Amino acid sequence: MTKTAEMKKNPGGLTVLGPQDIFRFECRPERACFTRCCRDITIFLTPYDIIRMKNALGISSEKFLADYTVAMIGDAGFPVVALKMAVDETKRCPFVTRNGCTIYTHRPWACRIYPLQPESTKITEKAGKAYYSVMDVPFCRGFDADIDRTVSEWIDSQGISQYLEMETLFKNITNNPRLLREKITNRQIQDMYYMACYDSDRFRRFVLESTFLDRFDVTPEVVAALKTDDVALHRFALQWLEYGLLAQQALKVKPNVLAAKKRELGIE
Ligand code: SF4
Ligand code: SF4
Repeated sequence: MTKTAEMKKNPGGLTVLGPQDIFRFECRPERACFTRCCRDITIFLTPYDIIRMKNALGISSEKFLADYTVAMIGDAGFPVVALKMAVDETKRCPFVTRNGCTIYTHRPWACRIYPLQPESTKITEKAGKAYYSVMDVPFCRGFDADIDRTVSEWIDSQGISQYLEMETLFKNITNNPRLLREKITNRQIQDMYYMACYDSDRFRRFVLESTFLDRFDVTPEVVAALKTDDVALHRFALQWLEYGLLAQQALKVKPNVLAAKKRELGIE
């Protein structure tokens, strides 16, 4: 790793890199460690990872989640999803072969950004800039490379920009101070969150085949997009979560439904 003028040490001693800072790394199939990083590791999946991977495999979100993932409850009570590694001694990723990753074009965000990892502190958030550190992985020979690249160049070369855009929307919910303060323990809410974030095909049926569209004001254009566009569906799912979890005005209830509710509560 080349030290540059912009590299900084935070109070904990960690070296953080800004967009124009340089690090040295290159992964190649000729390296002795080839695919060593694709086993015995926990790879958390983002909602957008799942959309990309299930579509690349041509299967539903339900099948993808059942066959390739494990779910657990994170610190704030939100369900999180990770790739299901083999249970035998290899502990390998279901997508790795001796020739490399079989889903490389649609590999998850965590696999793309390696060896960088985002470093977020109150100071970096206030600065409105993204900072990263370089992971310390002793077996990885990628650090023997003689190629210098900036953080920005790496992010561009790995197709990470669209992942970052989707992740920013998702983080608006998961990093909400209120939700972080009041840990979610209600199983029904956890399932609602899991469906909206990860199980997109089930969420699509929930919107299109239940009374949902009788209750919420959704334009015909949006409804048409929800039928076929997984990214539009995910954006809508985040709006629905915002409405449900944060009581914000992200979705509009139909006036007749609102009036009926008021009558039921005797507040009209
Ligand atoms: S160089 Fe690093 S990233 Fe590439 S295969 Fe080896 S361990 Fe994995
Ligand atoms: S998805 Fe691909 S790159 Fe990521 S761990 Fe699995 S095989 Fe390796």
